[in-house]
Amino acid sequence: MSTPLPTITLNNGIEIPQLGFGVFQVPDAETTAAVASALEAGYRSIDTAAIYGNEAGVGQALAESGIAREDLFVTTKLWNADQGHDATLKAFDASLAKLGLDHVDLYLIHWPTPARDLYRESWRAIETLVADGRVRAAGVSNFQPAHLRRLLDDSALVPAVNQIELHPGLQQAELRALHAELGIVTEAWSPLAQGAVLGEPALTAIAARHGKSPAQVVLRWHLQLGNVVIPKSVTPARIRENADVFDFALGDDEMAAIAALDRGLRTGPDPDTLN
Ligand code: NDP
Repeated sequence: MSTPLPTITLNNGIEIPQLGFGVFQVPDAETTAAVASALEAGYRSIDTAAIYGNEAGVGQALAESGIAREDLFVTTKLWNADQGHDATLKAFDASLAKLGLDHVDLYLIHWPTPARDLYRESWRAIETLVADGRVRAAGVSNFQPAHLRRLLDDSALVPAVNQIELHPGLQQAELRALHAELGIVTEAWSPLAQGAVLGEPALTAIAARHGKSPAQVVLRWHLQLGNVVIPKSVTPARIRENADVFDFALGDDEMAAIAALDRGLRTGPDPDTLN
C-alpha cells in the first residue's frame, strides 16, 4: 500500500490511524514477524498491552523496520494488577523499557475493575505522564458509561479513546452515543468478533456483491461508522486483506443489514464484573 491510512483527530489534536494492528494472544516470539508483516502491508498503528507479554516483540519489529518514530502510532495498556498511582508509574516505565521507546502515542487503562476502585488514582498518574510528554494521548478501555462519568467527576482530562468490544454482534449504541457527546473516539476491539460473525449470511451476501471477504465488509462497516479498528491476524495474506478496505463503500441498505445483526454477543469479559 502506498497511500497512508486515513486518520481520526483525537480530542487533544493528535491523529490516530483509523486502522491499526492488534497483537492479543500472539506469543512474543511470533510477534516481531507479525508486526513486520503489518508494517510491510502499510499499517502504522500497533495495539499491544503489558498483559499480552509481547511488548518486546513489538518493539523489536518497530526498531528493525527503520520507519521513523513520528510515522508510527504505538498503544499499550496498564494491567489491572498495576492500578494505583505509584504502581501505574512503575508499570508504565516497564512497558516503555520493553518497547524500547521513550514515549507511547496512546496509553490505556486496560479495564476499570470497578470493585477495586483504583482507576481514578491510575488516571492521576497518567495525567502526569501526559504532562511529561511520555504519553501523547491518554485513554481507557472497557469503561462503561458509569465508569466514564465517575472518572470525569474527578478529572478535567477527557479520555481521548475508549477501546471496547465492538463488532456486528455487539454494536454498543449507548457507549457510542456517550462517546460522541463527550468527544471520546470509539476504538473497537475484537472488531471481527474473533471470526464469530464472519459466516453470517447477511455479510457473505454483501461480500459477494462487492467482491470482498466478510472480514473486509465488517472492517468497512466499522470505518464508515467512524470507529478506529485494530484487527489481529498472524496470517500475512489476512493482514494484507484487512488493510485492503479503502476501495469500496457500503450503501445505506448494507449498513442497515449489518445493524440488524446486533444481538448482545459478548466474546470477552463483562467490564462491570471483571475485577
Ligand atoms: P479480531 O476480531 O481481530 O479477530 C482475530 C481472529 O480473526 C484471529 O483468529 C484471526 O486469525 C482471525 N482473522 C483475522 N483476519 C481475518 C480474515 N481476514 N478472515 C478470517 N479470519 C480472520 O480479535 P482480537 O480479539 O484479536 O481483537 C483485535 C485486537 O483488539 C487484539 O489483538 C488486541 O490488540 C485488542 N483487544 C483488546 C482488548 C481489550 O480489553 N482492550 C481485548 C481483546 C482484544 P489468524 O490470526 O489465525 O489469522
